[in-house]
Amino acid sequence: MTQEKKGMVIFMAEIKVLPQDIADKIAAGEVAERPSAVVKELVENSIDAGADRIEVEIKNGGIRYIRVTDNGCGIKESQIETAFMRHATSKLSSIDDLYKIGTMGFRGEALSSICAVADVEIITKTADCEEGIYAKFSRGKCSQKDKLACGEGTTMVVENLFENIPARMKFLKRDMTEAGYVNDVLSRIALANPGIAFSYICDDKEIFSTTGDGSLKNVILKIYGLDHAKGVIEVIYKEDGAEISGVIGKPELARGNRTRQTLIVNSRYIKNNVISKVVSEAYRNSIMGGKFPFFVLNITVPLDCVDVNVHPAKTEVKFSDESRIYEIVYHAVNNALYGKIKKDENKVTEQNVNREEPVYVQEEMTHKKTDSFYEPRRETVNPKEVKAFMESFSPEDEEKRENLNRESEAIYSTVDFLSENRDVYQVRETDLEPVITEKSEPIEEAVIKKTPSPIGQIFDTYVLCQSGDTFYLIDQHAAHERARFEELKASYYSKEKMSQILLVPIIVRLDLSEYQTVLQNSEIFSGFGFDIEDFGSGSVIVNASPLVGGEGELRDLILEICDAVETRGGMSVAEFEERALDTIACKYAVKANKKLNPAEMQDIINKVWELEKKSIKTCPHGRPVKIEFSKTEIEKMFKRKL
Ligand code: ADP
Ligand code: MG
Repeated sequence: MTQEKKGMVIFMAEIKVLPQDIADKIAAGEVAERPSAVVKELVENSIDAGADRIEVEIKNGGIRYIRVTDNGCGIKESQIETAFMRHATSKLSSIDDLYKIGTMGFRGEALSSICAVADVEIITKTADCEEGIYAKFSRGKCSQKDKLACGEGTTMVVENLFENIPARMKFLKRDMTEAGYVNDVLSRIALANPGIAFSYICDDKEIFSTTGDGSLKNVILKIYGLDHAKGVIEVIYKEDGAEISGVIGKPELARGNRTRQTLIVNSRYIKNNVISKVVSEAYRNSIMGGKFPFFVLNITVPLDCVDVNVHPAKTEVKFSDESRIYEIVYHAVNNALYGKIKKDENKVTEQNVNREEPVYVQEEMTHKKTDSFYEPRRETVNPKEVKAFMESFSPEDEEKRENLNRESEAIYSTVDFLSENRDVYQVRETDLEPVITEKSEPIEEAVIKKTPSPIGQIFDTYVLCQSGDTFYLIDQHAAHERARFEELKASYYSKEKMSQILLVPIIVRLDLSEYQTVLQNSEIFSGFGFDIEDFGSGSVIVNASPLVGGEGELRDLILEICDAVETRGGMSVAEFEERALDTIACKYAVKANKKLNPAEMQDIINKVWELEKKSIKTCPHGRPVKIEFSKTEIEKMFKRKL
């Protein structure tokens, strides 16, 4: 038979039923797509087996070796071979069960898929048997089975993944990248199960371990570090039979991508972009555009209100009443955030703290949409309902690290971003009052071209000056950022060294994915002037950086570059480099809402005039660096002229 398609002639071969081994390999591709998917399936089996202690070890990104050991119920000797057959499961027996699934697994596909594409060994023992069993499966067949003395529970070892499918092997990434995916999957599962003690070992190094004490905050501490554990707001909310619990990050934890958002539905980690958007919507007005809030949210709904059988890897679910769930999530997040911010605002006024202290929301949270969905509910949740799951913690090593960094920060507190202009500032350091310069000389061509002096600053953000018949309002941040961006670009492309050696190296604590991003992309970081070394256990030591600063500033900068690397996608090299350089420029640049002294104002004006020579009129994001008003325009405004 032939078919015409887009001018090509396609010869259709005869239709045949595929041999079992090919069919299994095809099916396996969906379930055991890469090492992280294998780890996910094995760990989910351990959770279903009732384990409260699960250890995961991988080597070479899991491609060569994956081991998952649990203290669950084990598998009976008579059932071992059945467990490895396709569609073999102990979790589902009738079609009705499919609509009330309370286990992680139910499709009976994982073990058969994994052993179709790798060598698998299992050691398992149930409580009622004296001895355990060791069995070996290669290419889907049991090749060895012996009795063995061992503890209760199961160990699965998966080796040589995809060795028999070279085509699929090609799709795997570098070991480090695959290890990163495993890390991501395990982190999410640990966040979804604070009652289970997880430990994750990669190439003989322990990457993280959780205590299993039931505290979500403790899991966050292990995975994302102290700033996240301290920077979260608890959420507990019930409406219409659904319960939303977990934590959301304070606005300052928001990052440039969604990788630090974890959504859990009935204990299952899933992906759902709509819910992620709903959460962002609830943060509206308190987070800058392009930033995404941190969260770990559990949605608990009756089992029959959610279909978990819509995705082969079970990473998506379908709610019976989706829009209702979105509404409830919105209310839960908004209530938690709104309540918290209100409290913090009170604290700020009570203690009469300096106005320049970071305040989470500049504007009152006003939601313009009138639709009831977006109407924030002002009632706060009954505090008695709030479980005391945010227990106190103060692991010693975290404290020590913090102290060490605080010491280094102290040394740098006097060296700020303007250090390169130190000589200028020292001259007029005490002269902080804006100077009103009077220019009454006749305006000549030469004067117009000369860089003007500052008249003053308004709203601690805009620098004023006049040149000839024109009055200028300069956005200090936009101007400084653009000037710095141009300098950085020039030195980056001329391969000049743009790094500053730090007097005292600074230790920066990162979360696991950031840590891996930094280590895997060390050339990118060194290209931008960083000298960063691995300091072990999720920390790096920064010896040199493109800007001088304390741990906080350097960490922010590293994180922004990580975000840029993680979301690089199809960006061209030049686009990516410019984005990263702009990130550095932006961090370095003087902020809005900062009072400047006259020398600093002059510096900003000089920069704008330098940019003008190159016809550069905007910041790297396209915002103008200055706005002009001609004398005539002003006269017209005052009706002096028509
Ligand atoms: P599913 O999880 O969908 O049932 P799997 O192929 O993952 O299918 O596992 C098949 C069966 O093997 C499970 O239903 C379970 O009975 C058993 N099993 C797998 N892993 C374990 C384990 N770690 N501990 C106890 N039983 C297990
Ligand atoms: Mg399973």
